[in-house]
Amino acid sequence: MNHKLKLSGMLLRNYILFSLTVSVSVFMLLLFFVMRTNEWLPAKDTSMWQASGMVQGNTAHINENAIKDLHGWVEILDERLRVIEVKGLKQAGDTSYTEHSLNMLFYDTPENPYYNSIAPYRTDEGAQRYVLVRLPKRNVQIDIALDEETSKSNQVIFWGALAETGVLFLVLLGISVFIYSHQTAARLTSPLSKIAAGIRNITGGRYYDRLHLESNYELAQVQESFNAMAEKLDQAERENRLLAESKQRMLVDISHDLKTPITTIQGYAKALQLGMIEEEPKRHRAITLIHDKAQHVAELIDDVFELSKLESPDYPIDTEVGDVAEFMREMAVDYYDQFEEKRLRFECEIPPQEVVAPFNRKLMYRAISNLLTNALKYNPSGTLVQLVLVDCHDTVRIEVADNGVGIPDHLRERVFEAFVRGDEARRSDGGTGLGLSIANQIAAKHGGQLALDVLEGWTRFEITFPKCIGSS
Ligand code: ATP
Ligand code: MG
Repeated sequence: MNHKLKLSGMLLRNYILFSLTVSVSVFMLLLFFVMRTNEWLPAKDTSMWQASGMVQGNTAHINENAIKDLHGWVEILDERLRVIEVKGLKQAGDTSYTEHSLNMLFYDTPENPYYNSIAPYRTDEGAQRYVLVRLPKRNVQIDIALDEETSKSNQVIFWGALAETGVLFLVLLGISVFIYSHQTAARLTSPLSKIAAGIRNITGGRYYDRLHLESNYELAQVQESFNAMAEKLDQAERENRLLAESKQRMLVDISHDLKTPITTIQGYAKALQLGMIEEEPKRHRAITLIHDKAQHVAELIDDVFELSKLESPDYPIDTEVGDVAEFMREMAVDYYDQFEEKRLRFECEIPPQEVVAPFNRKLMYRAISNLLTNALKYNPSGTLVQLVLVDCHDTVRIEVADNGVGIPDHLRERVFEAFVRGDEARRSDGGTGLGLSIANQIAAKHGGQLALDVLEGWTRFEITFPKCIGSS
């Protein structure tokens, strides 16, 4: 997350790039301006290609290279117009001139391909000499301007070039501003519109949608918080759905479990009312059945009520600090006879010393008694059942284990859910399927938990709760 560029960093980078672009543009435009004015303004100093420029006093200073660059040449003539020296490569003309042929050189006609200039000078010895410069017209452009006009036209050229450069500058600046503002906006508007779409999704109840932004640090943080919020909402939504489903299932189960005994009660009551059962033993059996079924219905209603109370987070339980070891010894005594009667072997492993912890006697009795009753109800004679108390460092662990029939695999996962019963329990129609859910809630109310451990033929239920309230 930290490697992401901060918004300020991104803006700074864009401004720097923008400034660089503008600076480069300005530099290029300056070059353009200089080139443009150079192109238009007449060359001022042409003396190095003019014969008059070459003659200084009684010598001719000939810049041979400058002349050669223009593919021209220079001839030195004596007083009789004979060529006595050539600088550069002579491409036309004779070795001497007459006045007429020399005049002809200065005729400005299309047939004359050279621009010529001539200047006289005298050598130190007093001899008459002429410098004749001949330049091909295709390489030379001659501008003739009157002085006052020249300055005016120069101003026009200058302002023209400046205007052209200015327009170009504005165009380049406009393009740069457009590109950079678009780029900067795109980096903000695109993720912002994605965030807006995400918020719309949440408002529309689509909590499973997440944001995936390629963006800077600040917006990435917004994304992180947004996704965390969406995750929580999604989770709450799932839990609500599960809760609603489980409530619905519970209602269906309750009505089903109530309906069966009530239908039986109705049937026998009607038969008795109509005098259809005449024999005394049968009448007695019917009345006993009505009583048992009514009791079952009452128990079921009690259990549902108890469970709903325990499931409510606001329902408080009173706990008293007491000796769990003593409490368990009393329970073992209570159940000893029942195990004897059913011919199950019953072993207790309870430490002789005190194991002090806060607990609600009535609720804890109910939880453990369900575990012991289950071991009694669902296992054949000969099964070994153990009641164990383990004094851990800051928790207490109560175990009810048996090596009996065990819990079928498909039930194990859901055995703590309300109304989940095994086939045997269903057939006998004895239990309500609420016992383990209630025990689970009781353990939770004590700040602990109920767990099922199945290992090597042993079915072991463990209730663990803290010795001090508030620690677990
Ligand atoms: P209730 O306890 O309300 O009278 P119940 O015993 O059917 O009804 P639970 O105590 O919640 O309900 O038990 C759920 C199911 O788990 C039982 O129906 C039974 O199939 C299975 N079960 C629980 N304990 C054992 C055990 N020790 N051995 C085998 N099966 C068990
Ligand atoms: Mg039970």
